[in-house]
Amino acid sequence: MKINKMIAHSSNFTKGRKQKIEFLVIHYTANNGDLAKGNCNYFKSPNRNASAHYFVDEKEIWQSVEDNDTAWHCGTSGKYYHSECRNDNAIGIELCSEKDSKGNYYFNNETINNAIELTKMLMKKYNIPTTNILRHYDITRKICPAPFVNNITNWQNFKNKLEEEKYMFVNRNYSYNGKVKSFKVINDNGENFVKVRDLAELLNKKISYDTNTKITNLDDILFNVNVEAGNKKATLNVVNIGGFNFVKVRDLADFLGLETGYNETNNSIFFKLKNSLIEKIKSFRK
Ligand SMILES: [Zn+2]
Repeated sequence: MKINKMIAHSSNFTKGRKQKIEFLVIHYTANNGDLAKGNCNYFKSPNRNASAHYFVDEKEIWQSVEDNDTAWHCGTSGKYYHSECRNDNAIGIELCSEKDSKGNYYFNNETINNAIELTKMLMKKYNIPTTNILRHYDITRKICPAPFVNNITNWQNFKNKLEEEKYMFVNRNYSYNGKVKSFKVINDNGENFVKVRDLAELLNKKISYDTNTKITNLDDILFNVNVEAGNKKATLNVVNIGGFNFVKVRDLADFLGLETGYNETNNSIFFKLKNSLIEKIKSFRK
């Protein structure tokens, strides 16, 4: 990602910073089809009484104020609605906007993609979490950036894209009953995390979510689970309910060489060594 630079007139920002960089603040230029370079050019003139670090359009990214200098983009003489974010600890990013026929502002997809790339780079550089990516609106309630204030979904999508790309996604094939599906999984330290939804689809199962218990149920999913006892190994069919594997008592007993029976006197199911095994042990002891 190429970042062009055209530094603003020194009367438009404060040299240096009082605090370390902790927030990224997203703005819009409130113009119709302006360009990043054009904005930089505008701030080259003195006494604009405002500034931002970066301007983004559908083709280019231009820097107007150095990260280590303080730009004037989210300050107010009025009320602050965010307890921490100020010009002193924030980098301001302006997205060039467009207006539709009804006079509503919007961003081109390419402009959004460039802004995501820039934001990601800055998040990494200054170790900034997604929760610290804000709209100008979040700090002062100014309707800025309008496309992300008037439509909260657009803002959520923007933040989701930042979140998604934090993780390493890999494609893995999974099969069930001869059906093979490829899923995008997150690989973290050698462990694969698959979307429950994807897994359910492969296994032809419905997902239900219990809002009271907050448990996602994949009803009656049969899994094969490998069990081991001593040097015996077997694969048992289990049903997973609420995150717990339930195995058939008969299967488990069989695997352990036990027999089950029913004791009427105390109404219980008992386990005992299989007769065939008892005979074997007896002969071994002789
Ligand atoms: Zn703004």
